[in-house]
Amino acid sequence: MPELEKHLECAVFLVGILLVSYLNKYVAINELVFGVPVVFLYSVGADLDSYSSKIRTFALCCSIAGIVLLYQIEKKFWAILLAVVTVFILVQRHRGLMHSFFSGLILAMPLYLTLGIRVFLIAFIAYICHLILDDSFKLI
Ligand SMILES: [Zn+2]
Repeated sequence: MPELEKHLECAVFLVGILLVSYLNKYVAINELVFGVPVVFLYSVGADLDSYSSKIRTFALCCSIAGIVLLYQIEKKFWAILLAVVTVFILVQRHRGLMHSFFSGLILAMPLYLTLGIRVFLIAFIAYICHLILDDSFKLI
């Protein structure tokens, strides 16, 4: 099982490709700015289902803060939706649904809807690289 460091090394490699793509004008500056954190996030994001992963602890803290914030600004529907999604992810077994092609597609879809196809592809490729490094690539 690759450790966090292997996934981060892969993310650095992908950021290098992203930087070369920017220098050759295949991606715009905003795609580079959003793409770098997206690469790191999606390179380790599949391990949200691992009880010992640091990304799980980080995501749980962010999720709780988000739920409290959304509740405070009267966005109760979104607070409840975030709580449901958080619980759904927390009950997943390691290398189950979160380590699949389908999850990568679903988790990267908000980026397609907000930032465009290129940032979506950056996130999706980073997610798939995680699955390949874990040797747990499956469709669903
Ligand atoms: Zn993994």
